[in-house]
Amino acid sequence: MTELSFEQKLQNYADLAVKVGVNLQPGQRLIVRGPLEAAPLVRLMAASAYQAGARLVDVIWSDDAVTLARFQYAPRDSFTEYPTWQAQGLIEAAQRSDAFIAIHATDPDLLKDQDPDLVALAQRTHQQQLQEYFAYIMADKVNWCVISYPLATWAAKIFLDGTPETQLDRLWAAIFKINRADQPDPVAAWQAHTQQLAARCARLNAKQYTALKYTAPGVDLMLGLPDHHEWHGGQKETLAGIPFIPNMPTEEVFTMPHKDRVEGVVTSTKPLSYGGVLIDNFQLRFVGGKIVEISADKGEAVLRKLIDTDEGAARLGEVALVPQSSPIAQSGILFYNTLFDENASSHLAVGRAYRFCLQGGPEMSDEAFAAAGGNHSLAHVDFMIGSDQMDIDGVLADGAAEPLMRAGEWVG
Ligand code: ZN
Ligand code: ZN
Repeated sequence: MTELSFEQKLQNYADLAVKVGVNLQPGQRLIVRGPLEAAPLVRLMAASAYQAGARLVDVIWSDDAVTLARFQYAPRDSFTEYPTWQAQGLIEAAQRSDAFIAIHATDPDLLKDQDPDLVALAQRTHQQQLQEYFAYIMADKVNWCVISYPLATWAAKIFLDGTPETQLDRLWAAIFKINRADQPDPVAAWQAHTQQLAARCARLNAKQYTALKYTAPGVDLMLGLPDHHEWHGGQKETLAGIPFIPNMPTEEVFTMPHKDRVEGVVTSTKPLSYGGVLIDNFQLRFVGGKIVEISADKGEAVLRKLIDTDEGAARLGEVALVPQSSPIAQSGILFYNTLFDENASSHLAVGRAYRFCLQGGPEMSDEAFAAAGGNHSLAHVDFMIGSDQMDIDGVLADGAAEPLMRAGEWVG
C-alpha cells in the first residue's frame, strides 16, 4: 500500500466530514464554524458540499488571538456581551434544518493566565446565548458533526521536542490516522467501525444494567443507570431519518447515569482542558448523585466554577465506555482536546444529559425527564477516568454483578 499524499489525505478528511460525518443532503445549507487556520480544510469542505448538492455554504470564523485580546483588554464588566446575530443566525439555520460542521481546535493554554471568573462567565454567556441552538443539536433535530484541525500552538503543547514544523506534521499524522483519512477507502473503514459500535450498544441495551461499579486506583464508584436507558455510539439519525456521525473521531459508547444515584469517588486520569484552562489530577466525591467534595492539583478554581455553573453542573449527565485498545489510547498522545481525549478513555460528564439516552426522553416534559433520573444543566463537560487498571462490573436487576471491563478492556 502506497502512502497517500498530504493533499489526498486532506481531501479525504474534508470528504469524510461532509459525506460521512454530517452526511450533507442535496438541497441542504451547510454552516461551518472553525478557526482561521483551518481555511485549507474549510475550502475543500465547501467544494465537497457544493458537489454533494449544498444550496449554500456559510462559514463563521473564530481566532484564538482575538479571543485572548478580549480577556486582556476588554472592560471587566463586558463579559456578558455576545454577538447575538450569530446566535440568532444559528437558531434560524437549525429551524431551516441546515447541516452543521464545527471545527474544534484551540491553544489549550490560551486563557491560563486569565481571571477564572471571566473565563467561566464567558463560557456561561456562550452557553446561554446558544441554548436554543444547542437544543436542536442535543435532540438530533439537525445533522451535525464536530471535527478538529491541527494548530501550531496546540501541536507545541502536545509534542514538546522538535521544530514547530515537525510538531505540526506529527499532529497531522495522528489526526489523519485516528480519523482513518490515511486509508485507501476511508468511507468503508468508517462503515465497519460504526457497525462495531452499534453491535456493542445493542448488547448493552439488552442487558439493561441497573448500575455500573467502577474500581481502579483512586476510584470506587457505584453509578446508577435509570430504567429504560439507551446506549449510543458512532452513527446516529436525525428525527427526520438522516444518518450522521456527530464526532470524528468517535470510539465511545455512552448513556446517561441516574442523576440521584451516584455514590463514591472518582479520580481523573487525564487533564481536562476547559475554557482555555487545564484542570489536572482531580478527585470528585458523590453522595446521592451530587458532587460534595472537589480537589485538584491544577485548575481547581476553574473546576469549582464549572461545578457551580448551576444546580445540574454538580451532577452527572453522561457515562461513556472506551477500551484502552482504541486507536487514540494506542497513539499514547495526550491531546489536551476533549474530542480526542474523551475517545481515548472511559469517561463521565458533569451537567446536562442527552434526552435520547432515555426511551421517550425527547418527548418528556422537563419534570418527567428529571423524575426519570435525567440531569438538566447549561453545562456538559466530559472528563476522563479510564485506565488500564480500571475494572467495571455491570449490576443486573437482581443485584448480581458481572464483569463488563477488566484492565480497561471489554470482557467478551
Ligand atoms: Zn462522551
Ligand atoms: Zn459528552
